Amino acid sequence: MEIRTAKSAGFCFGVSRAVKMTRDLAEQGRRVATLGPLIHNPQCVAELERMGVVTADTIDDIPEGYEVVIRSHGVPAAVTEELAARGYTVHDATCPFVAKIHRIAQSAGEEGQLLLVAGDASHPEVQGIVGHTTGKVQVFADAEELSTILIEQNAQKNPIIVAQTTFQVTKWSESALFAKKVCTNPKIFDTICSATWTRQEETEKLAKECDLMVVIGGHQSSNTQKLCRVAAKHTRTVTVETADELLPEWFNGVRIAGVTAGASTPASIIEEVCKKMSEIREEEMSFEELFEQYSAPVFRNKVVRGVVTGITPSEITVDIGAKATGFVHISEMSDDPNAKMEDLVKVGDELELIVIKTNDQEGTVQLSKKRLEARAGQEEVSKACEEGSALEVTITGVNKGGLEAKYKGVNIFIPASQATARRGDDLSVLVKTKQNVKITECSGRRVIGSIRAILNEKSAAAREQFWAEAEVGKTYTGAVKSLTNYGAFVDIGGIDGLVHISELSWNRIKHPSEVVSVGDEIEVYIRNLDAENGKVSLGFKKVEDNPWEKLKNEYPIGSVFTAPVVSLTKFGAFVRILPGVDGLVHISEISTDRVEKVQDVLNVGDEVTVKLLDVDWDKKRVSLSMKALLVEASEEAAE
Ligand code: SF4
Repeated sequence: MEIRTAKSAGFCFGVSRAVKMTRDLAEQGRRVATLGPLIHNPQCVAELERMGVVTADTIDDIPEGYEVVIRSHGVPAAVTEELAARGYTVHDATCPFVAKIHRIAQSAGEEGQLLLVAGDASHPEVQGIVGHTTGKVQVFADAEELSTILIEQNAQKNPIIVAQTTFQVTKWSESALFAKKVCTNPKIFDTICSATWTRQEETEKLAKECDLMVVIGGHQSSNTQKLCRVAAKHTRTVTVETADELLPEWFNGVRIAGVTAGASTPASIIEEVCKKMSEIREEEMSFEELFEQYSAPVFRNKVVRGVVTGITPSEITVDIGAKATGFVHISEMSDDPNAKMEDLVKVGDELELIVIKTNDQEGTVQLSKKRLEARAGQEEVSKACEEGSALEVTITGVNKGGLEAKYKGVNIFIPASQATARRGDDLSVLVKTKQNVKITECSGRRVIGSIRAILNEKSAAAREQFWAEAEVGKTYTGAVKSLTNYGAFVDIGGIDGLVHISELSWNRIKHPSEVVSVGDEIEVYIRNLDAENGKVSLGFKKVEDNPWEKLKNEYPIGSVFTAPVVSLTKFGAFVRILPGVDGLVHISEISTDRVEKVQDVLNVGDEVTVKLLDVDWDKKRVSLSMKALLVEASEEAAE
């Protein structure tokens, strides 16, 4: 196998300057922190850390007393201002080419012009550029996105257009051409760094000559990924961070292997990779086998296995053993909008993926993990629909018509009428919860589910169990579900029983709400069962609280006590002996003198001392006397 290395491979001017500046400071014994990893090369960062250089992710992470190096990507103006305000000594290693774009961005803001930046919005360099204008700014990834922005913003007049220094040259040419066509007076600054341009051009030329291209660079490095894309248009391409990541099987049958490297790759790593490549021997695989694997057609919806060879925040590169190089965008990896690529996958992982788009001209294949999972999920959903079984879904949102849910990437709609046991319940409380759902309809992408069907099944099972075990006298703890004028309905586990108003209290009450409220947990017992009509009558008031029982035990005939008058009638006064038990002092029993009108002698609220004469337990009538006590008193006085 012949190995051809691109001349421009390795550190560029800006990276080399930043690394030298940081090394020099560390060698002088200065305490230095870099704001973010100095370059996208973990090995180089680790070496600096061994020299005492600290990598701080944010300003707050910079240790006290440290001087700060701003890396070649640059930072937004606000960050520099914040560092100055906090009194840090700053060493600005922003690459002069990047600093030039900052100046353009600043002028755009001052002139009130729209700034359009070709690049990756999540890349620190782009964030730094965006953070240097005080005016309107938009980032676009290609000519298509640029066209959408120009139409949406109605900004065809005179926008200022710049590019991330490592932006793909071909995409920039297309974008610039488009802007020239549709804008009246665009100011286009070709800010792609010549180091990037030279690397991409050289890589493209080399890739055309090789059976395999090895791109060396940090898996987080944007310019490395761009080199990979450029090379992949012409030949099979893999990316590695170090020599250890080289897999011997990549080189089966390879006659010429090309090597290029991102701008942040140290020369020592390039050397190691080339050395290991020359040591790798071809495996035993026959040429026919190899040819078969290599030439197997890759088409839309084909399921392939691949090994992850490179990772950036927005996509991964995958070797699928074919002529074309595979890419998986983060949106095709996970449904979670907050998911980070480095948490989802690592270099060397083997993934099963589905082909969603091929581009023979570019030699690239767009793949998806999410859609393959959704395909498997779709099969499970169809099966669940056929069998009537339940699936555990995640409720992802709520809309006018009902709930949105997901099961393994499959979208499921749950109409509001099927979302809860009762209509009118607040559906938003279900968002982000897991729910068991019955799939009631599944035709193509239209999948309808019902939570209510599951709840109904559950309550039918609970009802069956209730009737199998229910017996008069059995006690339950249940929740009060609703109140009516004639009683309270209590859920005792799938069955609603009625506690009649007369069974709620020993006292006379006008409405059940005087005793219980909806939602109260109360202890009830079965008074009566009507299995035929499915009716259960419940008791709530306790025998031991029966005031007539208390009267029997605590107030023997002849006992004397003081109690309040609670009402007056023509024939006497009612006195409250106990809550729920009133006794009558007949008009003839009020005084030893003749009483014409009860009101002449007594008023409601008067405390009177009475003697218990008699109780009619059947009619629940109690006879009391004040006169008997007066007679007894006068007799005692006569003696
Ligand atoms: S790639 Fe170009 S712009 Fe970026 S750091 Fe290197 S020299 Fe500077």
